[in-house]
Amino acid sequence: MGYVKFLGTAGAQFVVARQLRYSAGTWMELAGTQLLLDPGPGTLLRCRKVRPPLDPARLQGILLSHKHLDHSTDVNIMLEAMAGGGTKRRGVLLAPADALEGDDPVVLGYVRRFPEHIEALAEGKAYRIGKVEIHPVAHRHGVETYGLILESAEGRLGFVVDTRFFPELSQRYQGCHLLVLNVVRREWSPGVDHLSLPEAVELIKAVRPKLAVLTHFGMTMLRARPRELATGLSEKLGIEVLAASDGLTLQADRWTPP
Ligand SMILES: [Zn+2]
Repeated sequence: MGYVKFLGTAGAQFVVARQLRYSAGTWMELAGTQLLLDPGPGTLLRCRKVRPPLDPARLQGILLSHKHLDHSTDVNIMLEAMAGGGTKRRGVLLAPADALEGDDPVVLGYVRRFPEHIEALAEGKAYRIGKVEIHPVAHRHGVETYGLILESAEGRLGFVVDTRFFPELSQRYQGCHLLVLNVVRREWSPGVDHLSLPEAVELIKAVRPKLAVLTHFGMTMLRARPRELATGLSEKLGIEVLAASDGLTLQADRWTPP
């Protein structure tokens, strides 16, 4: 059975800088295809330290939502590791164009020979890695950023990565069985390029997934105890809401329709 594993759940700079939560990415196996989303600082280390350890040489693809450090720091080493330590060409990288080109790309030139294929994300296009079809959703977050919808025999998964709230978000993620939301702030914070909890709740109510998972926490969320917030929301909304913790693994039967 497929699964999603949260190697890290840290959001804002302070939580990342002090490693109050790990800042590693999210690993998943869907219909037998292993993918890694947003390899932030410490991702390779966390892959090898979790039980059972995860083998980067079995990854088929790395998905980079945007180039901010807390999402991209380990992208180069993970590309090399996916290619068996750089011994062969292997795997796929999907990333925004501004992570690959322009003034400040985060993928090193010499590392680009390791994956078999590198492609820039664009809204409206669909991508396939193994048994998973990938649909990017353009977000609003300062740098070029894409949320991701992953479709496979194990349902429709929406990863609402960093973004400012905008009303069309809920339409874009319609039909997701699992909805993972990066919720940095506890209180509504106009003018900030991140979702706050009240905005995440609006999205969950509009999409009505089988399971919603909050992650990528900043200090105000951590202080408010994410697990208790999630329990309260589950009762209020009648939708199962979980707060991710470092290492949390969710099996696909938690969200797949019967
Ligand atoms: Zn960001």
